[in-house]
Amino acid sequence: MSEILVLVDHLDGAVRKTTGELLTLARRLGTPSAVFIGSGADSAQTYLAQYGAEKVYVLDAPELTEYLVAPKAEALAQLVSDKQPAAVLIGSSAEGKEIAGRLAIKTGSGLLTDVVDVRAGGDGVETTQSVFAGNFTVEATVTKGTPIVTVKPNSVTPEEAPAAGAVEAVTVTVSDAAKTARITDSKPREATGRPELTEAAIVVSGGRGTGGDFSQVEAFADALGAAVGASRAAVDSGWYPHSFQVGQTGKTVSPQLYVANGISGAIQHRAGMQTSKTIVAVNKDEEAPIFELVDFGVVGDLKEVLPQATDEVNKR
Ligand code: FAD
Repeated sequence: MSEILVLVDHLDGAVRKTTGELLTLARRLGTPSAVFIGSGADSAQTYLAQYGAEKVYVLDAPELTEYLVAPKAEALAQLVSDKQPAAVLIGSSAEGKEIAGRLAIKTGSGLLTDVVDVRAGGDGVETTQSVFAGNFTVEATVTKGTPIVTVKPNSVTPEEAPAAGAVEAVTVTVSDAAKTARITDSKPREATGRPELTEAAIVVSGGRGTGGDFSQVEAFADALGAAVGASRAAVDSGWYPHSFQVGQTGKTVSPQLYVANGISGAIQHRAGMQTSKTIVAVNKDEEAPIFELVDFGVVGDLKEVLPQATDEVNKR
């Protein structure tokens, strides 16, 4: 079967869930091989084998972590030219999309971004993209070079499929031309103790209806062991950081449970959460568009509803 390269999304060897999703999609196209760039591959190997990587190519050189993006794209391009895979799948993060763009240029290949589904077809790799806040789907296929595809997080549920996960160290050379931006400092964001937004099984979000006070949203999230999300109105008002924004210009989440509090349900917000398995909304306006989407709706003031819900959860 043809080889499909999957770029591992990790932080010092801690693999993010998106990698399991990419490996799951890659199995529909051929035999997945994971590409691990940087240090810490040892701690990632078990996960990668568990989710179906037959091989794990390890590309480790100081320049790959000292500099931003360009050396990674260059190293990946060398591997693509050597292995001639049938496709390359990369997560649709800011870094993933930049690597994918540079890789497409270097290999003279077609690139499809923000894909939500892939399958093998008569024209090679066929993809579905969700555009205009999820209002249109576009079916597309790459006609030139090696298909390079970035996949939106949470587009598929990661499925285990144990494979060999055989490690192969790959020597890469990084040119001076790729050393364009050196990392001078890097510190982790202050730990909240909550799960990462795109990885969480439960997300509790707040919107303009919070009036800027997220304490009740956070308390309910903590009772449920959930991540906190925010609408753009809340983010634009400076009430919550942009990294927590859910929607078209924020993150896409697809948790088991999404609870929208004081959020009207604009299409741009829906674009980031409408594939959640169960959706609950608390809104004081019974005509709010979010109620068209929900599995359970509570018409009420979130300042009264959330403390009661938090107490009930904490009692259990
Ligand atoms: P509102 O629409 O003002 O809704 C507030 C809701 O809170 C109302 O339904 C109200 O009834 C309810 N409410 C008020 N007080 C209470 C209370 N005490 N208790 C319970 N309910 C209460 N938006 C996003 O969220 N994410 C995006 O990524 C995003 N991207 C965008 C990209 C573009 C190009 C554009 C044009 C817009 C984008 N938006 C995005 C903005 C989007 O159109 C909406 O403006 C935004 O989602 C509204 O946020 P909201 O629901 O919090 O506020």
